[in-house]
Amino acid sequence: MRQVIIIGSGPAGFTAAIYAARANLTPLLIASSVEAGGELMNTTEVENFPGFPEGIMGPDLMAKMQEQAEKFGTEVVYDDVTALDLAGDVKTVTLGSGAVHEAESIVFATGSAPRKIGIEGEQRLSGHGVSYCATCDGFFFREQQIAVVGGGDSAMEEATFLTKFASKVYVIHRREELRASKIMQERAFANEKIEFVWNSEIIDILGGDSVTGVLLRDTVDGSTRELPLTGVFVAIGNDPRTHLVHDQLDLTEHGTIWVDGRTSRTSQPGVFAAGDVVDPTYRQAVTAAASGTTAALDVEHYLAARADAGAPAPDASEIDGLTDAA
Ligand code: NAP
Repeated sequence: MRQVIIIGSGPAGFTAAIYAARANLTPLLIASSVEAGGELMNTTEVENFPGFPEGIMGPDLMAKMQEQAEKFGTEVVYDDVTALDLAGDVKTVTLGSGAVHEAESIVFATGSAPRKIGIEGEQRLSGHGVSYCATCDGFFFREQQIAVVGGGDSAMEEATFLTKFASKVYVIHRREELRASKIMQERAFANEKIEFVWNSEIIDILGGDSVTGVLLRDTVDGSTRELPLTGVFVAIGNDPRTHLVHDQLDLTEHGTIWVDGRTSRTSQPGVFAAGDVVDPTYRQAVTAAASGTTAALDVEHYLAARADAGAPAPDASEIDGLTDAA
């Protein structure tokens, strides 16, 4: 049995692993088999992570975090968690391979996924003009005509932010009324660089190597037209990845995992959560990393309290002990 298993390989997961490993907890970190590294793997240059004044590519930053976690003894497994049992003193984690791991504690750091429009050009041109993060990528669209998709607070915030760089920002919304709060709407309406494209949905994103425009369909009369632009920022919401635990842990009204105040303690003793899966607001690499730290420290306190109460420490010989359910 492990002392701690960390699920998720973004900044929250790897930072929790660095701290847990340095505390001699020999963590096992489960990185997804296909999306290891989290959202930063979809980002090009990261310019706002402290310590890298010259910027760093998202995948390079994640590789460094992993190297640091492994240096102190974290074991990384590339597989998908298919089932979790979080009740009781011993938690079980089942992987796609059929392997079953046991642990005294779990750090759940599965992040969140930006909602996708779900059209062909979106996937193909992701990172080549299609982005899900204005703070990450806005800088690359200086003096260009770009669009933000969505009518909520995120879309207004991103559109307003992007006017610092772009010469023009279209806000493409499928209705003629915004969902965003009044103050965010008014700020966007007052911005001369923002032009609203109402009752419109994007049915294709055009371009070979990079975005050259979008094909719009009028949601009222069904007519279509092309709008030339070089960037599309999709801001139609974000979904925390909670499908593995939504029936075992309390969630908030935002759909994130509930944690107790500023701690990472969830509604289940021994289960801690960190990063975007608990955060409906900030969703930055730095804030995720910080909450990974909180989770590792909370795990340490939890294990120490258990040991004080007489729970047997896991046998070192069992640290790598897997039970193969297959
Ligand atoms: P949201 O409020 O759910 O808004 C999503 C928007 O995207 C809606 O306008 C929706 O259109 C549109 N949309 C959804 N699916 C779409 C699709 N497939 N194609 C085209 N459009 C689609 O999400 P959010 O803006 O990310 O905000 C999430 C939460 O965070 C909210 O509670 C918000 O208040 C909060 N937030 C706050 C701030 C702030 O206060 N600074 C900033 C950002 C977010 P419809 O309107 O037609 O449904």
